[in-house]
Amino acid sequence: MKRTLIFQTPNFINQQVKVCGWVNTARTHGKIIFIDLRDRSGLLQVTFAKDTSSQVFDLAKRLKPEWVVEITGVVQKRPKGTENPDLITGEIELLAQDLKILSEAKSLPFSIQSEGYEISEEKRLKYRYLDLRRERLKRNLILRQEVIHEVRNFLKDNGFVEVETPILTKSTPEGARDFLVPSRLQPGKFYALPQSPQQYKQLLMVAGVEKYFQIARCFRDEDPRADRQAEFTQIDIEMSFVEQEDILQIVEKMIQEVVKKIFPEKRIKEFPFLRLNYQDVMKEYGTDKPDLRENKENDDELAFLFVVNFPMFEWSKEEKRWKAMHHPFTRPQTEDLSLIKEKPGEILAYQYDLVLNGYEIGGGSLRSYKKEILETVFEVLGHKKEEVKEKFGHLLEAFEYGVPPHGGIALGLDRLLAILLKEPNIREVIPFPKTGDSRDLMMNAPSEVGEEQLKELHIKVEKQEDKNEDK
Ligand code: ASP
Repeated sequence: MKRTLIFQTPNFINQQVKVCGWVNTARTHGKIIFIDLRDRSGLLQVTFAKDTSSQVFDLAKRLKPEWVVEITGVVQKRPKGTENPDLITGEIELLAQDLKILSEAKSLPFSIQSEGYEISEEKRLKYRYLDLRRERLKRNLILRQEVIHEVRNFLKDNGFVEVETPILTKSTPEGARDFLVPSRLQPGKFYALPQSPQQYKQLLMVAGVEKYFQIARCFRDEDPRADRQAEFTQIDIEMSFVEQEDILQIVEKMIQEVVKKIFPEKRIKEFPFLRLNYQDVMKEYGTDKPDLRENKENDDELAFLFVVNFPMFEWSKEEKRWKAMHHPFTRPQTEDLSLIKEKPGEILAYQYDLVLNGYEIGGGSLRSYKKEILETVFEVLGHKKEEVKEKFGHLLEAFEYGVPPHGGIALGLDRLLAILLKEPNIREVIPFPKTGDSRDLMMNAPSEVGEEQLKELHIKVEKQEDKNEDK
């Protein structure tokens, strides 16, 4: 007999079905045992009556929460007055005829019946596979997929091509430290994990793709911060032959579509999204990510804002040099170009951020596609010619073979989801997040590796004790 999913059981009144899943709760009332059976589609009340089969009844007496079972029985309407309007199966129950115990379960380290916010995060992350059984996290996982699905459909329908770019690659500056991967085949050399697919997506524009997107994993080795993750996901976009407005408009429409289809209860405060100058926003709100909701208590209000016309450079006091406000590939505004070397602090860039309810959820820019401009930017940033050649020579060379004007943006998917799902932090919308200090408590990573493996990688680890002894 084929398995029936729980949410379909109401279509089989007075018929026999087989269901599989986990025991959500079990309770005995004299000659009747009630269990709530849970599968990915919902909950179903199952009754075992002593009169039906005492053998099955005796087996059912053993059942405990989270045991995995297969039950065959007949779907029946519940007696009047015992219906449960909260369940899609609330008008029916399954009268069990047969029971198979597929696996038993120890009692769980924490309850999965609550929302889970009250449980220590260490525990929840260590047993994430149990935490994910929780209704709230299951909902988050599914809505994450729905949003990604909608984004993919929207971009594909608008002529974008989804391209996967490498994870083992070379450093691209996005302002964080790189994660490095030692090469076994090229002793002493290292790959960097991408801080973003920035250079690849620009090279795809040289390749003639014109409209690129990717649901891209990015890796940044930053100091611990409560609501940051070393690996996170971006909706990454790049387009050729466009102006800034074209990029802002496609993002705006994509988000509108996602909200309309998946979160119809939410209200976008203003459409098209407001566009404000960086200088004006700073003057008015003292931050470049103001929360412009009318009523901050109302989480169904979405106040989007594009902050535009950022300065190209900012002065780093610690490093005593100019740094790119976004990244060096950003294009300085044309009318300011003549001042680029004399007064770097005064020039603006074609750069924009997307802000939602007080959070920066994305950023991007038009790019310097003229080799000379890109080289000048590197010069202002204090890079030596040789260093530029070594680090970015491939990109500069590519620009000699017919590069279209281009620009793009990347949206932080995790943050966007956390806001849409009203979650207090991004770990609640990431299936397998790490702790604030980047440990995976479930897999126990990072972890030490054997001598043999290190040798193959031509690596020697300086032990903390050895270091102390040397002193
Ligand atoms: N690569 C940039 C970032 O990760 C986004 C972009 O400029 O498109 O912030």
